[in-house]
Amino acid sequence: MQCVHEQKRRLKQCRVCSRPEEALRYFHRVLPAVTAIVDNKGMAVGKVYLVGAGPGDPGLLTLKGRACLEQADLVLYDGLVNPSILRHSPAIAERTSRVNGPNGKKLNQEHINQRLVEAGLAGKTVVRLKGGDPYIFGRGTEEAEALRAAGVPFEVVPGVTAATAAGEYAGVSVTHRKLASAVAFVTGHEDPDKPTALDYAALAAFPGTLVFYMGLARIEAIAGSLMGHGKNRDTPACVVSRASRARQQTVSGKLSNIASRVHDANLPAPSLIIIGSCATQHETLQWFEQQPLFGKRIAVTRAAAQAEPTVQAIHQLGGEAVLVPLIQASPPADWSAVDAAINGLSGFEWLVFTSANGVRFFFERMYARGLDGRTLGSVLIAAVGRSTADALKEFHLHADLVPDTQNAEGLAQTMLERRVSGPVLWLRGDRGRDTFSDLLSAAGVEVVQSEAYSSSDVSLSESAQADLREGDVDWICLASPAMAANLAATSVELSDKVNVAAISPLTSQAARGAGLRVDVEAIDYSWAGMIQAIVDRERR
Ligand code: SAH
Repeated sequence: MQCVHEQKRRLKQCRVCSRPEEALRYFHRVLPAVTAIVDNKGMAVGKVYLVGAGPGDPGLLTLKGRACLEQADLVLYDGLVNPSILRHSPAIAERTSRVNGPNGKKLNQEHINQRLVEAGLAGKTVVRLKGGDPYIFGRGTEEAEALRAAGVPFEVVPGVTAATAAGEYAGVSVTHRKLASAVAFVTGHEDPDKPTALDYAALAAFPGTLVFYMGLARIEAIAGSLMGHGKNRDTPACVVSRASRARQQTVSGKLSNIASRVHDANLPAPSLIIIGSCATQHETLQWFEQQPLFGKRIAVTRAAAQAEPTVQAIHQLGGEAVLVPLIQASPPADWSAVDAAINGLSGFEWLVFTSANGVRFFFERMYARGLDGRTLGSVLIAAVGRSTADALKEFHLHADLVPDTQNAEGLAQTMLERRVSGPVLWLRGDRGRDTFSDLLSAAGVEVVQSEAYSSSDVSLSESAQADLREGDVDWICLASPAMAANLAATSVELSDKVNVAAISPLTSQAARGAGLRVDVEAIDYSWAGMIQAIVDRERR
């Protein structure tokens, strides 16, 4: 596991994942050096990357786009961008659409151009992140022109545009070999008071697929104009709303009735209109809408830096992960106890971890001190459950013991059955139960406890609170009693539509005790187990 968050900063600790300065130096992925560009006065000039974010599924961002985000000092993103993509960047991110600029008015294109130019001239690496592809109906060219005029270097990173993504995520090929040998991307956004710049007679006669961007509000007029210019009323058509996102919806019909169907379904923007024979394929070739977690938005309450595997798992199952961290882990205020434990490792029979955080903070500290795996000598390693054992694998270590019952009681009992003689070094957080050491100490085994990290509650962002209150997430996952307590303490009234998944009976108990309804409980006490429990419930 690597932390790339504070790649270019001089900080005592990463503000995103809380790794200490030493660990940053050790763990940061070595990214290609950004060559400093110097103007004719010898001043450093930054660079602006106009990056396509794709249509919404965050997995459709390109590798090059992600690399730009990892290096950015500033990200300016538009309203079509799925905010989940911003997790790839340590930079400050500013939204540019439907927001007010410095003068209180909505930011217009000139303001955005100016902001890009200023940041570039100030030597910053800027990512201008735009929904879909930056140049397809994206005004990216206007930004490039402003940058060129101001002498700011820029690059353009293409993205997956809505037309191809909406088609494919709805099962439609806009250039199906037997159904369409041409495709036209058309703007549906025209000023109704001005004569159209489009030749509707030519569009009606176009021998291929017509794809209208920005046409939802004018669908009736668009369909009417095409029919008025002779396009067959029975031409298949479909409208894909929020393509590739959890709330994707597709409405299909014919040119003559598509507007009323879209109206009846109350389809929201952004939506794309596809007109042509290929639109019928939605009935037979749709796949995305059949994924096990399709349509489900799932709040992942892990710290952002650790959430990646869970985010990936949810997306692979067709759901959408929403990052809502409830707890964050940070290094202990003082490393001396952990350092002493590391120095005395050879005196312990067992090294015990009861959380992935314990593993990460302990080993990062060890490596940051210039030590490595040899320091462990022959000490045996126990992990309370599979997630903790997986964290050990990131450091190329196998747990010698993982109990079948993945909790403190199960761990203590299994170790006692193994006739552990001690002493045992337990790397723990500052919160949590003492059960493990109580049980071992009661059996006469010496347990030395060392706090490898401390946990603190994170307050929920405005948008997370709104999602939970309005039921715009379908599930929230609770991975510890502390998370349950924090969620209950936020005083956000959970909508009835929000289901709760708990990682273990202990967490369920804490959640119920805090007045929450628990809808599923993981059989395997891990994040993967929680996701599986959600899939099983949704299948029913
Ligand atoms: N540059 C973008 C398009 C910007 S214009 C791109 O390449 O995709 C905005 C229009 O794109 C919207 O009105 C809608 O018609 C379409 N659009 C963008 N994202 C979409 C999505 N996820 N689903 C459906 N249509 C989308």
